[in-house]
Amino acid sequence: MKLRVLGSSSSGNSYALISDSGEILAIEAGVKFMDFKKMIDWKIANVSGCIVSHEHGDHARYIKDFMKSGIPVYTAFETQTALETITGERTIAIPPRRTRQIGSFTVTPFNVPHDTEIECYGYLIEHEEMGKLLFLTDLEYCRYDFSNMKVEHIMVEANYSMDLVDRNEPNYEHRLRGHMSLYTALKFIQKNDNPALRNVVLIHLSDTSGDPALFLQRTKKTIKYGANVYVAEKGLEVDMNLCPF
Ligand SMILES: [Zn+2]
Repeated sequence: MKLRVLGSSSSGNSYALISDSGEILAIEAGVKFMDFKKMIDWKIANVSGCIVSHEHGDHARYIKDFMKSGIPVYTAFETQTALETITGERTIAIPPRRTRQIGSFTVTPFNVPHDTEIECYGYLIEHEEMGKLLFLTDLEYCRYDFSNMKVEHIMVEANYSMDLVDRNEPNYEHRLRGHMSLYTALKFIQKNDNPALRNVVLIHLSDTSGDPALFLQRTKKTIKYGANVYVAEKGLEVDMNLCPF
């Protein structure tokens, strides 16, 4: 299993999990479909589905293209309604905290607090090749405690650090609300750190209030058992296999 990153910012989010047999799970549909196709080496027929966190354009703008290509798109119920209004396309709504099989991937969505007006999902994704992956983006914090699950991989938003925020910028509080600070992300990582943890991928860093090198360094300091740490950027590929060879 490998993870590929196509985009991880407010200008567009798109990731792919590609199993050893070639099966693909798309995460988010916020980058041009043509670029997504390139990322997956044009293996459209191998994509079992696309899971979307919420309705904002940087996560969902291109769902229509996915659906036109026969890829089922999974969202929350409120996201389904919103996206149907915006795009005219009807996604498949899946209830929170219920496990769903998408191809050989087992996916469990759960609600995260992002914007009071809309629903946003985090996902627990399981696969025999990679074990358990927690995917969390566009959230202020995570209300659920996954620490007993001893997850193998974490993709978590680390959007901003308060020291880097320009407080003179109008509406800065509004812009940051509903996004995870580095401080909160590190607490979350610390709580879920365990000897089985292999990868931590920091996602959705702010262009202005994030600092990839600093965030990477702070996360490496936080990790106790030696997991790999990455900052998601276009072109990043991460080995997600449980088996080291
Ligand atoms: Zn959003």
